[in-house]
Amino acid sequence: MLVLLDAFDVVEGRPASREQVERCHSADYLDRLESLAVPTLLDADTVASKTSYDAALLAAGCSLAACDRGGFALVRPPGHHALPGRAMGFCLVNNVAVAARYAQAELGLGRVAIVDWDVHHGNGTQDVFWDDPSVLFASLHQWPLYPGTGGPGEENETTVNVPLPAGAGDADYVRAFEQRVEPAVRAFEPELVLVSAGFDAHVDDPLAAMRVTGDGFRELARRSAALAPRTAAVLEGGYDPRTLPSLVAAALEGFRE
Ligand SMILES: [Zn+2]
Repeated sequence: MLVLLDAFDVVEGRPASREQVERCHSADYLDRLESLAVPTLLDADTVASKTSYDAALLAAGCSLAACDRGGFALVRPPGHHALPGRAMGFCLVNNVAVAARYAQAELGLGRVAIVDWDVHHGNGTQDVFWDDPSVLFASLHQWPLYPGTGGPGEENETTVNVPLPAGAGDADYVRAFEQRVEPAVRAFEPELVLVSAGFDAHVDDPLAAMRVTGDGFRELARRSAALAPRTAAVLEGGYDPRTLPSLVAAALEGFRE
């Protein structure tokens, strides 16, 4: 994360309140996270420790600030695998989900669309909003791949999953975005688009097998921003610190075009 804070003019955020986070997570789960005293394995690949609760509230709070100012929350831990009642896949609090509920409850917005182009399926976000027709969730992801959800046919009226085969590159992503995501989001007429911006679909990323480049992320960002009068983004995955700053910069250019 330091590579990102060094690369951009950043505004420091404040932590989200317990009430704001409880719009998406159970009190029992948050109590458990808050009470951790030693490094603890919360699932097969999610370690949390004494300071993790504060870090998670800060990441969520930055995501709310991104909604306020149309910004990009450069935060870790990521959020889109976090479920209402448990941590999952490096994620503790579902930042983008907390941001969507904040936009509705405190900014007075109605329909919110979440566009998730992290290489993994945003199962936690899907879970939070599966039965909520006021939030549309659209995800492009490598499939099959962790966490295994988001396969063909796993959809409802406000859940759009676009599983893509390993090896997909810029043209495949843009075509899928144009054919599947854009028609659904436009028909939904959101007042805000929130982007779960992961960069682990990049060709050099060590965790997956896609071939997206900086140009591809710029184009996905440009197209995402064109879908609503307001846009904000939250960082999800992206695990090569050498490429991450340039990919975030490319996405920022796209959001501003
Ligand atoms: Zn990911």
